[in-house]
Amino acid sequence: MVESTPHYVVDSIVFGSPNGSEVRVMLPKESYEAKGLLSGYALPRVQFDYMLFKRATEMVLEAGGSVIQGFSVNDVAVEVEDGEQRIVGVSGKAGGARSEEPELSFSAPLTVGAGGYNCPVSRKITEVHDEPHRDDEHFCGGYREYWENVEGLGDSEGPIEIHFIDEVLPGYFWLFPVKEGVVNVGCGMLISEQRKQRGKKKSLKQIQRWVIEEHPGFKKRFANATLVPKSEKGWQLPFGSPRKKAPSYQPRRVAMAGAMAVGDAASLVDPFSGEGIGNALLTAKMTSRHFDKEMHSGGFPEDGAVAYMEEMWDELGSELTNSKTLQSLMKWKRVTNWFIKKASKKEEIGKMMSEMIASKEAQKALWNPWFMFKTLILP
Ligand SMILES: Cc1cc2nc3c(=O)[nH]c(=O)nc-3n(C[C@H](O)[C@H](O)[C@H](O)COP(=O)(O)OP(=O)(O)OC[C@H]3O[C@@H](n4cnc5c(N)ncnc54)[C@H](O)[C@@H]3O)c2cc1C
Repeated sequence: MVESTPHYVVDSIVFGSPNGSEVRVMLPKESYEAKGLLSGYALPRVQFDYMLFKRATEMVLEAGGSVIQGFSVNDVAVEVEDGEQRIVGVSGKAGGARSEEPELSFSAPLTVGAGGYNCPVSRKITEVHDEPHRDDEHFCGGYREYWENVEGLGDSEGPIEIHFIDEVLPGYFWLFPVKEGVVNVGCGMLISEQRKQRGKKKSLKQIQRWVIEEHPGFKKRFANATLVPKSEKGWQLPFGSPRKKAPSYQPRRVAMAGAMAVGDAASLVDPFSGEGIGNALLTAKMTSRHFDKEMHSGGFPEDGAVAYMEEMWDELGSELTNSKTLQSLMKWKRVTNWFIKKASKKEEIGKMMSEMIASKEAQKALWNPWFMFKTLILP
């Protein structure tokens, strides 16, 4: 489906440092092709969401289920049985919380919370356990616009770009082409860091405007570019980085009797790359393994919820922890300058970064101290 709609084929990633050095890391085409995949796709979000929703709807209907579009969940029902709290369903309205439509309630042995960073089901799970839902140290603000005619990014295949530039640090500025001639341009920064900068720096939108209009390296590339009207959008990204004093599970409690949360509702966005779609799909798949329609017909049990949270962190914990370490390192301007300069000069580092993007084994190798020392420090 993706290939039959307009998209951009990603063959590499360009990393830029505060002092202007750049390194282009090619994606390992062969590793992907061996798995029958193309190296990478970028496409407009509205297009991706349409395809995902269309296919999901078809599958639900084929399995005898129903789909309601435009329904807003306003409340999550909890019952207490033998001293144990259990989520038993949701209620809400078609057409949004303030619509004139009648309130409808649904009950089920299992409710899956997939409502993104502010999902009412995932909020209920943390509220019932008196644990924090939002944590500004691990929530990131994101802002994006679509631009046409950005210099150097007009083709239908090529790099995506990530720039660690002074004005956006400790976040980054990105240029992701989404189809021929159109580029998703954005920046992101941890909410806690944005707070610290308040007074000194501006909003993400203002920072982005400055980069596009004033930054010596970028203003040239945007000289003939035009903003796609009404494409400005801001969001929050709930990162999956490990919490320092997590009261129960990592990255936070995301399941209980009667409910499991997935994707952004489970706070699983990669804290270095900002990607969350992969982990959303992966955890959605996981819930279907933990829920047994027959065995759990009377209600999804607490021990099932615990098993889900443990499997999730076993599967994703090390990758998310590594990404957090990288995110913290990139805060230090001199480290970023040094690393990117080194990578641009030493072929082995470029190769290592490229393999890291494709394989978990290579990611583990990077954290081997001897490998690190050999590759980064030795001439
Ligand atoms: C600027 C930006 C750029 C990004 N770029 C990338 C990228 O390049 N690659 C990548 O992998 N990830 C990227 N991400 C992260 C990615 O968008 C998310 O991780 C992903 O969308 C999570 O999917 P989800 O289904 O869990 O949540 P969402 O996509 O947020 O979907 C949640 C859905 O629930 C609905 N909803 C919310 N509340 C209610 C309610 N009360 N009742 C009913 N429905 C409700 C919402 O309307 C929405 O449709 C980016 C994020 C941002 C902000």
